[in-house]
Amino acid sequence: MNELKARLDALRGSPKRKNLDARAIAALTANPGCQRRSVLDAAGIDKQSLGTAVGFAMPAVQSEFALTRGTSFEAQVKANGCAQLLTLLRELLDLPHREVSYDDLETVGGNVTPTARHRHTARLLTNAAALAEDAGTLFDHPLLELTIAGYPVHLEPDLIAFRFGGRFYVVEIKSFAIVDGQAPAASVAAAELQAAVYVYAMQEMLRAAGLDERLVAPEVVLVCPKDFTNRPTAVKVNITNHLAAVRRQLSRMRDLHTIVDTMPAGLTLEVWADPEQRLNPRPAADLKATLRTVEARYVPQCLNACEMAKFCRNEERGSTAAMGRQVREELGGLDTISEVVGLATGTRQPAPDQVEQARLLQLAYRYRTELLGGAA
Ligand code: SF4
Repeated sequence: MNELKARLDALRGSPKRKNLDARAIAALTANPGCQRRSVLDAAGIDKQSLGTAVGFAMPAVQSEFALTRGTSFEAQVKANGCAQLLTLLRELLDLPHREVSYDDLETVGGNVTPTARHRHTARLLTNAAALAEDAGTLFDHPLLELTIAGYPVHLEPDLIAFRFGGRFYVVEIKSFAIVDGQAPAASVAAAELQAAVYVYAMQEMLRAAGLDERLVAPEVVLVCPKDFTNRPTAVKVNITNHLAAVRRQLSRMRDLHTIVDTMPAGLTLEVWADPEQRLNPRPAADLKATLRTVEARYVPQCLNACEMAKFCRNEERGSTAAMGRQVREELGGLDTISEVVGLATGTRQPAPDQVEQARLLQLAYRYRTELLGGAA
């Protein structure tokens, strides 16, 4: 593990390590086959800065407006010892109307270090888990921990819920609205995936303490604004599939050394030619060449999930892979768009095994031309 850490540190170079969070771990599952992202994230490389250094800057994945709105909605729901939240949870989880205790884990006697907060969280949650009866407790600002590529990754769910009915529930507070019972599918999926990372971390914590991981419900509670108001509403969603995806992705990360072992020795994405003085940026061409030694698997979804997307899309320009998995599979064996266009327009002679593909492409091209009034 120390050797892996040393290789990853050398790859990152002098910039400070960027810590992973639940959002980043969830985003990893969006493109599980991409070795480049796994390596960059495990090395703690700031992909936003790297993308800028190679001339393919991406806008910040989360807008300032969304962040501010999210923070103020969460503060509203958690005000007065989580009064609004408690009312919602009582209804949704059918909680009895008795006293509920509330623990704020944002500091431990004034100590805000992640290590102290995580230890305190682990102690309280494992104690609650070991109780035979319902603990009936809200744990606000808990800090969970996973180890990825030898580094501790701290994860902060909005709230870890109760031990109720023998189970803990993770609660995620989101600022996207649920209007007439409907919410944007992509936002819900992202929230579910993020919550699945917390559930996984909590399961790992219980397992490490010799407790049953099934004490954590495979359902999470999403709390969102209702309709076009700031009034919160809560729904329970099942995250079993997301949990399996997170588990698979993190087990792949455990095999990261097999990818790193194939990388040339001494490989670095150091962005400075003079790391001590930091006066001369390293040439973009050098950085691009280094990046290309780590295999990527670009898909259009990368544009919503990864800060390297513009660079990787440019690399794949002209390839059918850049158009997504479905297109790539349907055009099986045709790697470039020019091959596809050549076969469709009849300017390219099909190989014997491409005759049927060429016939279908020409048919599609003819329909398209007719639909466009012969203007293609
Ligand atoms: S943008 Fe590039 S590095 Fe990021 S997930 Fe997609 S292919 Fe991988």
